[in-house]
Amino acid sequence: MSTVLILADFVGKKASKTTAELATAGARIGEVSAVVLAPPGQGAECAAAINVGPISHVIVIESDSFAGNGVAAGADILAQVISLKNPVAVLIASHAFGKEIAGRTAVKTHSGIITDAVDVAADLSVTQLIFGGSTTVTSKISHGTPIITVRPKSISPDLVPASPTVETLSLLVSQSSKKATVTSSQPPVQGGRPELTEADIVVSGGRGTNGDFAAVEAFADSLGAAVGASRAATDAGWYPHSHQVGQTGKTVSPQLYVACGISGAIQHRAGMQTSKAIVVINKDPEAPIFEIADFGVIGDLFAVLPKATEGVNARKA
Ligand SMILES: Cc1cc2nc3c(=O)[nH]c(=O)nc-3n(C[C@H](O)[C@H](O)[C@H](O)COP(=O)(O)OP(=O)(O)OC[C@H]3O[C@@H](n4cnc5c(N)ncnc54)[C@H](O)[C@@H]3O)c2cc1C
Repeated sequence: MSTVLILADFVGKKASKTTAELATAGARIGEVSAVVLAPPGQGAECAAAINVGPISHVIVIESDSFAGNGVAAGADILAQVISLKNPVAVLIASHAFGKEIAGRTAVKTHSGIITDAVDVAADLSVTQLIFGGSTTVTSKISHGTPIITVRPKSISPDLVPASPTVETLSLLVSQSSKKATVTSSQPPVQGGRPELTEADIVVSGGRGTNGDFAAVEAFADSLGAAVGASRAATDAGWYPHSHQVGQTGKTVSPQLYVACGISGAIQHRAGMQTSKAIVVINKDPEAPIFEIADFGVIGDLFAVLPKATEGVNARKA
């Protein structure tokens, strides 16, 4: 049976749900081997974290270069694994790190690449949503080993328990991939909320918050949700850019997306319109975001959100 490589995706020391999503897409094509890029001495622990999804095999490579030389080292090793295992395709999570590693690996292996896939079929046809999600494109890579990045939350994961065989490879990062050294890095402050692209519920605020995200955060916390923001809010410095949802921010596809004081520009929709249910709170009944809402409240977010928070908290009590 053909092998499909997926690059295991981690949040801290836990395999993210995206790993199971990649495996689910990969299992349509062939037998899934997950590649784990681990710090020295942590390979076994990282491999043990790959315990969900249709994954038959885990390939572990340990190197201090993954932290010390960043994506260059990861792409170097992934290219070596491709040449050893000759997979029919490689699937990688479509976030900034994943896309950079995919691009570098494609160059190194002289392969075609497709980024931001929302689906991958058994015959390796890839679906993308482009022009802010208004156009659906289906394409296929015709050269080399197809390298495809898949948007988190696009594919419903098969959460079967996994007990893969584990193989450790001793591979060396080449000198040419060590030309830049990471001298320090600061992990993002999670603040106890779920990661934006991983969360089942996202509550986002826009210009309508007028810079006060307290009501948005309180509602998010009542639901155990992540907090997102429109670009108007992040550009104004009201919320960190790492929380921006949209074409030039993060793509989210949660079970529930609550847009508060956001007008629904096409660039914002591009990052959230595949959410399973969309709730809108906006005081302008003509706001375009109502066009994609499953449930809409015409009202002032500063009046609606505290009541909604109170209601959720009362039901929990
Ligand atoms: C190349 C490019 C890339 C872009 N990428 C992104 C992106 O990634 N993400 C993104 O979000 N945008 C992006 N934008 C910007 C986008 O075009 C919009 O400008 C932006 O999304 C608007 O943000 P907003 O909806 O918060 O603000 P506005 O459009 O100003 O809307 C504010 C809304 O809040 C409502 N409101 C005001 N007060 C209240 C209140 N008290 N209660 C309830 N409702 C209220 C108003 O009725 C209005 O509908 C991009 C633009 C370009 C050109």
